[in-house]
Amino acid sequence: MEFEFNEEQRMLRDSVRKMLAEVATPEYVRATDREGRYPYEVYEGFVKLGLVAMAFPEAYGGLGGGIMDFVAVSEEIGRVSYDYLGGYGTSVFNGMNLLHSASEAHKREFLPRLIDGSIRMSIAMTEPGAGSDAGAMRTTARRDGDHWVLNGQKVFSTGSGARDTVISLYAKTDTSVPYKQGISLFLVDNTTPGLQLRKLDTLGRRSIGTYEIFLDNVRIPADRLVGEVNRGWNTMLAGLQLERMMTTAGYCGAAQSVVDLALQYAKERQQFGQPIGDFQAIAHMLADMQTEVEASRTLMLKAAWEMATGRDALKTLSMAKLMASETYVKAANNGMQIMGGYGYIMEYDMQRHYRDARSTTIAAGTSQMQRNLIARQMGLHPR
Ligand SMILES: Cc1cc2nc3c(=O)[nH]c(=O)nc-3n(C[C@H](O)[C@H](O)[C@H](O)COP(=O)(O)OP(=O)(O)OC[C@H]3O[C@@H](n4cnc5c(N)ncnc54)[C@H](O)[C@@H]3O)c2cc1C
Repeated sequence: MEFEFNEEQRMLRDSVRKMLAEVATPEYVRATDREGRYPYEVYEGFVKLGLVAMAFPEAYGGLGGGIMDFVAVSEEIGRVSYDYLGGYGTSVFNGMNLLHSASEAHKREFLPRLIDGSIRMSIAMTEPGAGSDAGAMRTTARRDGDHWVLNGQKVFSTGSGARDTVISLYAKTDTSVPYKQGISLFLVDNTTPGLQLRKLDTLGRRSIGTYEIFLDNVRIPADRLVGEVNRGWNTMLAGLQLERMMTTAGYCGAAQSVVDLALQYAKERQQFGQPIGDFQAIAHMLADMQTEVEASRTLMLKAAWEMATGRDALKTLSMAKLMASETYVKAANNGMQIMGGYGYIMEYDMQRHYRDARSTTIAAGTSQMQRNLIARQMGLHPR
């Protein structure tokens, strides 16, 4: 049993680290967060380094990597900015969703463009009345000759406002059937007439941004339907596993960054004539933080291994998502305590982690929904 990335994955991780150190300097990350500016230069770095290509087969211009490569890259991006991972991850997992669910024609049309950076991808499932209960969505798509006509509203669509973005948008194509049935997946350019975007003013993750989408008689060609009509629910569920894998790897990287920042501070900051890290109260906090990050990471790697070897990863992945997100939140909270007043000022990065972390027990399935999923796998029926 291996508990480390292999040689190639370590090289890949090092190349990501090097590129991010050059492009996503601490000043750059702070500026994009402060100004709510999309990090186009960093995304270009992802593309140039082949990090988008990595996830796809060579037949579509990819490099034929696997889940473990995706995990290694996601963890590394998360170390620098969990927010930036939202830009990379949504493109890759939505592209991978096409790989598994779309027609050959769609794969040939969209994947090479995603890989060469001509397009990005985002996902729009959530609606004002359909959050955890995504099956309750009410946005509709009606067939009209050679087009589909979309009407409704989406919310919290991460990265949808970035230029050249194609949105994986789920809508009801049959309103006569209940709930999760009658949902289909569409590929919608974010510049399509009738589609309006509004960036939400969020506490954290301010650079990639998350958007409200208003759809008013948006006409898209009939061939923008992915897979079979009314079969979108299963496509969505399959895609969510990849999303959770990516986000969980990112939480582990980000939480480790928090520990590193707090540890460095605890070694340097002197009070009462000694480094604060030599007070047992602080040392034990750091020891607990590192232990929790390691435990989260081990669970995350187990889930990745299960996915990579074709096993059913649902339970482990839900446990890993739950634990790693709660660990990131807790670590950022404690990290701020360790830094005292300095953790609370905008010049230091701990406050950004504190803000970014807070979204992680909500997005990609709340902690409560993960617990429901885990309990169901244990034969319980939580209501
Ligand atoms: C930063 C950010 C980025 C996001 N990005 C995207 C994106 O790219 N695309 C997209 O489609 N969506 C995205 N989302 C939406 C996200 O998936 C939803 O916010 C999430 O599913 C929860 O939905 P809600 O916010 O409507 O909360 P609700 O579902 O209304 O939940 C409110 C509270 O009730 C609890 N609750 C609800 N149902 C149950 C239950 N059955 N059992 C126990 N507790 C329950 C929840 O856990 C939560 O604590 C994003 C959200 C955020 C914050």
